Amino acid sequence: MKSQEIRSKYLEFFQSKSHEIVASAPMVIKDDPTLMFTNAGMNQFKEYFLGNTVPKHNRVTDTQKCLRVSGKHNDLEEVGMDTYHHTMFEMLGNWSFGDYFKTEAIHFAWELLTEVFKVKKDLLYVSVFEGSSDNDNLGLDQEAYDLWKEIVPEERIIYGDKKDNFWEMGDQGPCGPCSEIHVDLRTEEEKAAVPGRDLVNADHPQVVEIWNLVFMEFNRKADGSLEKLPAQHVDTGMGFERLCMVLQDKKSNYDTDVFTPLISSIEKVTSSTYGESEKTDIAIRVVADHIRAVAFSIADGQLPSNTGAGYVIRRILRRAIRYGFTFLNIKEPFIYKLVATLSNQMGEAFPELKSQKSLIENVIREEEQSFLRTLDQGLILLEKIIDETEGEVVSGKKAFELFDTFGFPIDLTALILRERGYSLDENEFNAELKQQKDRSRAASVVTAGDWTVRGKEDVNPFVGYDLVESPVEITRYRKV
Ligand code: ATP
Ligand code: MG
Ligand code: MG
Ligand code: MG
Repeated sequence: MKSQEIRSKYLEFFQSKSHEIVASAPMVIKDDPTLMFTNAGMNQFKEYFLGNTVPKHNRVTDTQKCLRVSGKHNDLEEVGMDTYHHTMFEMLGNWSFGDYFKTEAIHFAWELLTEVFKVKKDLLYVSVFEGSSDNDNLGLDQEAYDLWKEIVPEERIIYGDKKDNFWEMGDQGPCGPCSEIHVDLRTEEEKAAVPGRDLVNADHPQVVEIWNLVFMEFNRKADGSLEKLPAQHVDTGMGFERLCMVLQDKKSNYDTDVFTPLISSIEKVTSSTYGESEKTDIAIRVVADHIRAVAFSIADGQLPSNTGAGYVIRRILRRAIRYGFTFLNIKEPFIYKLVATLSNQMGEAFPELKSQKSLIENVIREEEQSFLRTLDQGLILLEKIIDETEGEVVSGKKAFELFDTFGFPIDLTALILRERGYSLDENEFNAELKQQKDRSRAASVVTAGDWTVRGKEDVNPFVGYDLVESPVEITRYRKV
């Protein structure tokens, strides 16, 4: 089944269960002080859950453009490394606003997966919230357990803790216990070696969470306490790309028709081949993923810039450029050339991609040109630093200067040094970094703000996401 059809079938199923099909909200949020990007389908319905606004329909369904690069939900580091986390992804959802609750939510999900989509029941595991003995003092979700027990064998029901089975949008806002559906795509041989239930929520690439059914009952207040919402609601979210992986019998989201056209275009414009080496595969996945995040943001009106959401988008695009530059050996703008493929493929479901196509291309091409210039200049300066180095350890202070003054990515410095047989004095670099952070913390008044989540009290000074990401990236690059 093609992805287009999977998306329609989902929406039509819920329409047949009296849900109104609504449009995706923008991915870039303009008017919520607690959130910069939509990170889940429920964001646009927050006020309904809180009881501040009365919905027109009490059952709705949609596919929501989400971006998870920040705050409580930040998957950026996984993207490209694994095969099932994206920055931008579609979250299919169905909602009840004070209407049905756990029974229907569970029965609808099961019917759709096993009867409409015909997923084999013995591939599926479900989880329920086990309760928590911390300040929230929440009990086991016995009701969900009993409902599942009627449908699936008990050995396929798993208890999950707060991290996995209590869904929260952010530090504040509507939340509640959840019940999730996971799929085990391993071979029979692998299954015989380790039972699937042991791998649920264990970051196994083939035992993957697909659908989260959240039972919205609480609001997390600014002081951290929970209050009961005025009514009980259902909020579900299913990763569209992951569902496509299951239904198209693939082992990776990138092997579904959501990504294969993009990957073919990347292969063509970069003369590389997907599936040849782990290094290039990661780079190709990063580019295929990031072009979507960036294109959808620009279509939403958020251009790359030096502050706020624009800065986040700029960093994502630069991450793609860096991977292209380093692992695909591309020194010319190329990412903008992928916009046509993306817009052909997704423009029907998201017409904004079609109508904004040339703007998206132009913005991306200019960003690529300017960052590639930075990289070129940085490379010349790095050569100079290497020339001046006695021994094999390059000064962390000099590398910091290159990073801080010229914007040359530190992970790239580390990589190039390693390739040339040098190493970077990371302690010295980190000490410089810390000093700079302290300086900007002292100086930050207006620009203060978490990288993405705004309005938090303990905001970090806005020193850019490189500073947070780079040390991790250094290790990542070592791995490949
Ligand atoms: P995971 O444990 O795999 O990180 P999650 O528990 O963080 O997922 P939820 O917040 O429950 O995810 O979101 C609902 C659904 O959205 C998930 O069941 C999954 O199918 C999908 N999803 C979540 N994060 C991503 C992502 N980064 N890329 C693609 N799909 C995702
Ligand atoms: Mg997650
Ligand atoms: Mg999870
Ligand atoms: Mg989940």
